[in-house]
Amino acid sequence: MNPYIQEAKQQFVSVYNRYPIVLDHGDGMYLYDTEGKKYLDFGSGIGVCGLGYHDPQYTRMLHEQIEKLLHTSNLFYNVPAIEAAKLFNQAAGMEQVFFTNSGTEAIEGAIKIAKKYFYDRHHTNCGEIIAMKKSFHGRSMGALSLTGKEAYQTPFGPMIPHIRFAEFNNLDSVRALITENTCAICLETVQGEGGIYPATDTFIQGIRKLCDEHEILMISDEIQCGMGRSGKMFAYQNYSVLPDIVVSAKALGCGVPVGAIGTRGPATGVLGPGDHGTTYGSNPLATAAVVAVFTLYKQYGILSHVTNLAAYLDQALKELAEKKSIIKEIRGLGLMKGIELSVPAKPYIEALQKEGILVIPSGTNVIRLLPPLILEEEHVNILIQALYSLF
Ligand SMILES: *Cc1c(COP(=O)(O)O)cnc(C)c1O
Repeated sequence: MNPYIQEAKQQFVSVYNRYPIVLDHGDGMYLYDTEGKKYLDFGSGIGVCGLGYHDPQYTRMLHEQIEKLLHTSNLFYNVPAIEAAKLFNQAAGMEQVFFTNSGTEAIEGAIKIAKKYFYDRHHTNCGEIIAMKKSFHGRSMGALSLTGKEAYQTPFGPMIPHIRFAEFNNLDSVRALITENTCAICLETVQGEGGIYPATDTFIQGIRKLCDEHEILMISDEIQCGMGRSGKMFAYQNYSVLPDIVVSAKALGCGVPVGAIGTRGPATGVLGPGDHGTTYGSNPLATAAVVAVFTLYKQYGILSHVTNLAAYLDQALKELAEKKSIIKEIRGLGLMKGIELSVPAKPYIEALQKEGILVIPSGTNVIRLLPPLILEEEHVNILIQALYSLF
């Protein structure tokens, strides 16, 4: 066994089932391990590395910030944070933003906004949040409480109270859970960990309508499906709706850990001084990465590129599915795709690794594709060819 892996197995809390690959460096669409093996990457570090690896301009912009200032604190202002806030709010259709260090923390903040929104009106803590079955929002106690997967919750109970679970893409099941105490409805626009299920138009638009009718906050978890992956900057923009709270992370920093909570309308102004905070939030290095990401997405025309490549990938996957009966269904939006097999996906994922292609699972039977957004047709062709010979 690779000595690094032996060491890692001793040193780490063993919460991850890692593949026996030690990654060392990357370039564009490719990653290299410590033994020099080259991999075409269709995982982008779970939807993080939208700009691929070692983009020269991104690297230069981060270098410039490292030379200037790494950290201040939220007792003062800093310029990259202000620029990042403006770019984020503009792109998301939000009014105000709070930067966090991860997606989970952004979800935690969104839960607090929902709770306080209810408290301010009713002066009690019994505000209820409706979340979705098969959802994933993170592993901290609040985010886990919103996550519709019992196996993740059971050993860690009790969860935070007043959370109810509806069926994703079943508007009646959401409607049935609304009470006079409902303060928020939280959903991923495209469920990621749950198996790559995009919301239907009727579902998202119906949720928006329910929220308007009952003065409920609509929270969109765009951590995985946002930041250009769908072909729009945020996936809800494909449905012509605007949530009240947007939660972002993953590709928001394209490799530097950063998340965000955007608010508009009734969600704006709910939190006041002393209600929330975090030492690293609005950190100048993290927010310089956000500025770099928005700047380079625009410069590279990432959104239209994703739309074009997604159409090419869709067509190729459709033809593959017609010829290979092992494929049960192809789902997804933009460059977020699930290939559901009639058998467990793990052996195929490992076989692809041997061929020098990295894909990731989503549940047991689904191969998930989350390539860097700089993907080209030639890369799609390499993957599809490999899948033809494997299936
Ligand atoms: C990854 C993910 C999270 C958690 O984000 P972290 O940055 O891992 O804390 C929450 N929601 C969704 C939809 C995710 O994909």
